[in-house]
Parts: sequence; structure tokens; C-alpha cells
Amino acid sequence: MYAAVGYQGITAQQATNRLTEKLIEKEKPVDLENSLIEAQQEVETKTKKKSTGIGVNVKGVDNLMVRLSKCCNPVPGDEIIGFITKGRGVSVHRDDCPNIKNEDEARLIDVEWEGVNRQRKNYSVDLEISGFDRNGLLNEILQVVNETNTDIVAVTGKSDKNKMAVINLTILIQNVDHLRRIVDRIKHISDVFTVQRTIQ
Ligand SMILES: [Zn+2]
Repeated sequence: MYAAVGYQGITAQQATNRLTEKLIEKEKPVDLENSLIEAQQEVETKTKKKSTGIGVNVKGVDNLMVRLSKCCNPVPGDEIIGFITKGRGVSVHRDDCPNIKNEDEARLIDVEWEGVNRQRKNYSVDLEISGFDRNGLLNEILQVVNETNTDIVAVTGKSDKNKMAVINLTILIQNVDHLRRIVDRIKHISDVFTVQRTIQ
């Protein structure tokens, strides 16, 4: 091609044009693909922006960093309230969480659960079960949890000299109804005295 410049009547401009044409031909399909990907990414980003990823919305405010508090572990269906933390966005507590009871009301903000498809499949919940420390008690509790297809994250248990057992369970819960079903079934196990959601 370079040899032809100024020899067979092809001007340098024409040669450049041909080169450019070839480059354009090569780039066209790639460009289209890229713009498709970009468009998809944009759609995804827009969708993500609306959802906080934890299934909770701050009413009337977008793009706030929202997280679930670790103290009271709210699950969908719980009454919830947002607490504006210093520099860390909004932490979501259960309405009756003692940790926010004495906080400045100006720092509380309305939040709400998003639709089911925006919620997570699993929310961590801590339960404390007390009962009479007899043989097989822990096994029966774990069996009941298993029967409800609920994942267990952690189990600890202790008992005192009066044969009073305290078992702490961390389980993954979908919503309040799911939690109620499990708590109900554990309460029906003989020698179980109390089942409570723990708040740290
Ligand atoms: Zn809390």
C-alpha cells in the first residue's frame, strides 16, 4: 500500500481513508456489543440504586447507605425504624429495640420493608431457649429447626447445677411468619420453658 502512494495515482489521503475504513469495519461490531453491555450495566445500576440490597427503604430518600443493625436483627414483617448514625448512613432497628429508645428523636427516620423480591432470602436471627437440661433436649430443638428447612449458623449451650439449660441459636430466617413457626414449634418441645429473640 505504501508503495502505491504517489505511484499508481492513489493519493496519501485515499490511502489513509482506506486504512480508516478497514479500522472502522473492524470496530463496528465491537462498538455495538460494548454499547449493549454499557446499556445493560446502566439499567442494572439504576435498579440497584433504588434497592438498598437488604430489602429496606428509607422513605423519601434515595442513595442512603442503609444496613441492618446487629443488636436486634430485624426480619421482614417486623416493625422497623431507621437510626441516622454518625457518618455511616442509616441503621435499621426493630421498633422496640432498647438501644434506640433513649436516642434523640431527630435522628430517627421512617423506613419500610421493600417488596418480597427485593428482600433477602435469609436474615440472621438470634434465639435464646431456656429449658430443663435433660437428655436429648438440644437434639430435639435442632431437629425441629431442621424440619422447617432453616439454616443454623451457630449453636451454643450451657447448663447450671440446677439443670437449667440455656441454648443460643443463630438461624437464617426469611420473614416474621417463618420465625413465628419455628419459635412455636420449639416452644412445644417438652421441658422448653422460654424462647426469645435476643437483643444485644
Ligand atoms: Zn437494635
